[in-house]
Amino acid sequence: MLNTRGPKQRRRLLLANVVKSQILYAAPIWSNAAQCPSYFRGVNSTYRLCALRVRSAFRTVSDEAAFVIGSMIPVDILARESTVLASTRRTLTQLDRHQARQSSVTEWQNRWNSTTKGRWTYRCIPNLVSWLNRTHGEVDFYLSQFLSGHGCFKAYLFKFKHEHDPYCDFCLSGVEEDVHHVFFECPRFHRQMNQLKLAVGGVFTPQSVVDYMVKGTSEWASTSDTLTSILKELRDLERQRRISRA
Ligand SMILES: [Zn+2]
Repeated sequence: MLNTRGPKQRRRLLLANVVKSQILYAAPIWSNAAQCPSYFRGVNSTYRLCALRVRSAFRTVSDEAAFVIGSMIPVDILARESTVLASTRRTLTQLDRHQARQSSVTEWQNRWNSTTKGRWTYRCIPNLVSWLNRTHGEVDFYLSQFLSGHGCFKAYLFKFKHEHDPYCDFCLSGVEEDVHHVFFECPRFHRQMNQLKLAVGGVFTPQSVVDYMVKGTSEWASTSDTLTSILKELRDLERQRRISRA
């Protein structure tokens, strides 16, 4: 699927849900085996690919961050949830399902708090509940770059040998151009980020930006527009550098 064109997010999600349902078929029978990483590796990589393609994120994004950005509960936790529900010896109620889902999210939150992976994403989205409970806001190719830190940032591209150096060309002070520098330090996008800072109010951090976005549709749209315009400019700059090197 293309990153900036191709199926809309709702269709991508629908396809991902079909895959999820197939993976979870008869989960109560095999969920114990999921505790063995080597048995579960193939399933997890398919599920991870779904999370990445739904949000058009880079393939280098860790499983942990991909699942959070994609709002997809890790599949081993979902398998255990199915097992718990299947072991209930009465007709399931909405409350049963709600409680089972709450404990799955709590388990996921504990895992997210303690992992060493996806720490930039954790700075943006430390609290899974408010992120998952939002009823608006699609995460596209550009927003995924902001939330994962994997995108057209020189420090990231340098790591994969797509740039000669990781430094910001605008600051010229030997400072690395990573996601934090671009959005929270660099004067290059001062005007756009200052507008966002005023809108967010209070302390301006990756978390406060995401907290502001989940407040409502207009907050999400205005923030997404600002971040997207910056990321598009970065992508153009990267293209220009690539052409001049050729
Ligand atoms: Zn800079």
